[in-house]
Amino acid sequence: MGFLTELVCTRCDAAFAKNQLWNLSTCCQAPLFAKYDLESAARALRPEMLINRIPTMWRYAEVMPVEEESHRISLGEGFTPLLQAARLGRSVGAPNLMIKDEGVNPTGSFKARGLSAAISKVFELGGTAVAIPSAGNAGGATAAYAARVGLPAHIFMPKDVPEANRVECEALGAKLELVDGLISDCGRIVAERKDEEGWFDVSTLKEPYRVEGKKTMGYELAEQLDWELPDVILYPTGGGTGLIGMWKAFEEMQQMGWIGVERPRMVSVQASGCAPIVRAFEAGEDQAEPWVEAKTVASGLRVPGAVGDFLMLRAIRESGGTALSVTDEELMAAIPEMASATGIFPAPEGAATLAGLKKLITSGQVSEDDRVVLFNTGTGLKYIDVLR
Ligand SMILES: *Cc1c(COP(=O)(O)O)cnc(C)c1O
Repeated sequence: MGFLTELVCTRCDAAFAKNQLWNLSTCCQAPLFAKYDLESAARALRPEMLINRIPTMWRYAEVMPVEEESHRISLGEGFTPLLQAARLGRSVGAPNLMIKDEGVNPTGSFKARGLSAAISKVFELGGTAVAIPSAGNAGGATAAYAARVGLPAHIFMPKDVPEANRVECEALGAKLELVDGLISDCGRIVAERKDEEGWFDVSTLKEPYRVEGKKTMGYELAEQLDWELPDVILYPTGGGTGLIGMWKAFEEMQQMGWIGVERPRMVSVQASGCAPIVRAFEAGEDQAEPWVEAKTVASGLRVPGAVGDFLMLRAIRESGGTALSVTDEELMAAIPEMASATGIFPAPEGAATLAGLKKLITSGQVSEDDRVVLFNTGTGLKYIDVLR
């Protein structure tokens, strides 16, 4: 079914066998990327065949890592709507505005894509339990996909995550531990205990397959726009998996002859209380120092350090894009602004992209002619306690 060939280290290109579970590369302690035989994939799947495919992210099976269809653990994730937002666009000065609404995914956020792919591979390769540090939504998605296949899931979250994230993990039968600290502290606990406990660590970019799930957002954008990518993409950035994944997808699609060399300007939007990528971008660094005392109501953006920092910074720069931060006040005010003008009730993280867009319009970095896509990465319904 698939054309996965091997995994490669994103720093030194060393190859790793695809038939076992890996975390970071053993050579550089860097993220691993899945590599495909794209020539064969392009022969097996042509864009016009997609019309008959299942309306989930698994419609792109030839460029997905799962090798047997029976190993696919799915709840219907992906192939989310790309909605026109002309009224909102006109009011802010970007009339060609669209919103990719990831809030309609299973578990209410785009974390479903990554965890569907990752848990499927754990199942395919015989893993027996998973563990994850989560700022909130990744925990819920892990719990859901683990429940679907009957794998034990161990989830570590900061104790002040939105209530919905805690309640769903427990309902879905996961073992939840609340930590007095940040996602980075949760990550440390998983790293310390995983070997002894026999857990496979599915932390963002510390295994190769969550990014494969998230990259399908890039395939979908291209397909939904009839193979012409937008001019600008605004992405609310925590660990950066979606941004990195879409950048990978664009390269794969070009190699398969589905798109040309043009790329959207990739814009990373962060919260001003936790903006390590923005700071590194502005300083011209190719890696980001961890942010001290990270604080924002947008829990998905409260990621002080990301292992994929260099991949994000590279994609933002190669695309001619930028990175900018918005305050909690700005992103909270953008929730009703987006909702009332589009019918989409966004997560605070998704609303942050609207606040970011307004700044780019003011500074002249986005113009009236640009075709702009905002990523609403989750539903506002998971944040009722935060919004109250
Ligand atoms: C996790 C999360 C993000 C950040 O995504 P990354 O791919 O880690 O950068 C943004 N929004 C929501 C709602 C999230 O759950």
